[in-house]
Amino acid sequence: MAIIEIDTHSGFCLGVVNAIKKAEDFLDGHDSLYSLGDIVHNNKEVERLESKGMKTITRKQMLEMHHTDILFRAHGEPPITYEKAKELGMRLIDATCPVVLSLQAKVRVKYKKLKDTDTQLVLFGKKGHAEVIGLLGQTENKAIVLEKLSDASLLDFSKPIVLFSQTTKSLEEFQALVSLLRASMNPGVSFEYHDTICRQVANRMPLIRNFSKKHDCILFVSGAKSSNGKALFEACHSENTRTFFITGPNDVLPSMFSESDRIGICGATSTPVWLMEDVKKQVEKLLSV
Ligand code: SF4
Repeated sequence: MAIIEIDTHSGFCLGVVNAIKKAEDFLDGHDSLYSLGDIVHNNKEVERLESKGMKTITRKQMLEMHHTDILFRAHGEPPITYEKAKELGMRLIDATCPVVLSLQAKVRVKYKKLKDTDTQLVLFGKKGHAEVIGLLGQTENKAIVLEKLSDASLLDFSKPIVLFSQTTKSLEEFQALVSLLRASMNPGVSFEYHDTICRQVANRMPLIRNFSKKHDCILFVSGAKSSNGKALFEACHSENTRTFFITGPNDVLPSMFSESDRIGICGATSTPVWLMEDVKKQVEKLLSV
């Protein structure tokens, strides 16, 4: 008989829990709330909140509105977005994750201190990602963004470097980048780095690998847009080749498991627990047919 288990370490991180709570608390007393960008990279959860009155808007749409209620999601925003919201007379529900706010403050302070020097302020992160846009904004968009190790060739090793990381980057990749930069600096030139990776994500990597190893097959539940989802899926797949990426119960196929399997269900930091429970119910339904 099949055993079906949901990973107790999967599901929303604290930053996302906090943002959704702020949105739901507000919607309890109001008819609508505009979220600047998807509140979480999971369509199913976005649809659930939209049914309560939340509407997702783009930056362009925001600039065409005024005197509305607007939510800034956990990823954070650059200073210019706060200024615009104020100019447009918007009421702000700021759901920026405290971990991101603290990183923004560190980057801002460092930038102010170094802006008239030849030090290169470097962000290890994904270009165009909302959190990186928010961090770049703390540096008047002057910081250099490195997406991958090979981008290190963009740096000048004869000048000092200060490195920060986007909170959701891989810890292993960050450590490899630190080693590469340390080895590349010209003698006597300073290199300072700040490990600003959020452990809510980094700590899940070994846990999810372990969970994958212990099961015959894995149903990995995530929105297709979640970068954290992609990284965690790959970690599962590297431990267990019978790992299937699904967005919800409708993607579950009987060919993914058998009656004698130990079936594991897990997901990203943007995957709601209720969605993993729905997947479990669907597996049970298919097994009982
Ligand atoms: S991953 Fe970490 S920094 Fe990002 S929203 Fe979640 S708790 Fe905050």
